[in-house]
Amino acid sequence: MRLLGIDTPEKGKSLYSEAQRACAELVEGRQVEIQTSGGHSKDAYGRTLALVTAGGTLVNEDLVARGLARVYLKDDGEIPGDVEEGLIRAQNSAIDARRGLWGLRGALETRPGERLRATRYRFHKEACADVKSLSRQLAPITREEALRSGRSPCRNCLPRRRRRRRRISGSNDCSLPSADRVAMMPRREEYHGSR
Ligand SMILES: [Zn+2]
Repeated sequence: MRLLGIDTPEKGKSLYSEAQRACAELVEGRQVEIQTSGGHSKDAYGRTLALVTAGGTLVNEDLVARGLARVYLKDDGEIPGDVEEGLIRAQNSAIDARRGLWGLRGALETRPGERLRATRYRFHKEACADVKSLSRQLAPITREEALRSGRSPCRNCLPRRRRRRRRISGSNDCSLPSADRVAMMPRREEYHGSR
């Protein structure tokens, strides 16, 4: 199971175990509803992609609000617009409070000499090969502005604090009920944004 629209800390990174624990606590003993996204129900590793509601709480958004996950959106209508907006609002509230990941040193600061450019859902280093040809036409953006608008760092040019561990796949796995158990639970065709 992978949670749509978010990215949780990878194993070995700050707050990894906190995020795993929060995720488990949110679903434990609760009625869990899964909404998959039409045409995007599995990722490249065969994991189910989903919005998960447990006891009336959208787990994806709650983890972001706690500062235990970052918003990670895609430009393919993977999740409904109102859910996307809710995730961005949750990230801003976490940033305002410097909660979790946003309380870590350097989480919001553009590094000296670093020039960042924005595409719709990502921010890049100016020299990123993905945007090289059009980089100068893209709007300059600070790290904090980018994060507050729901953009995430490009995984190719990695505008992050450290460049050391390069890993392409996020680890937004969550300790959720097994696929067999989930299949027996009610499944909603559409997400209605009940918050
Ligand atoms: Zn890039």
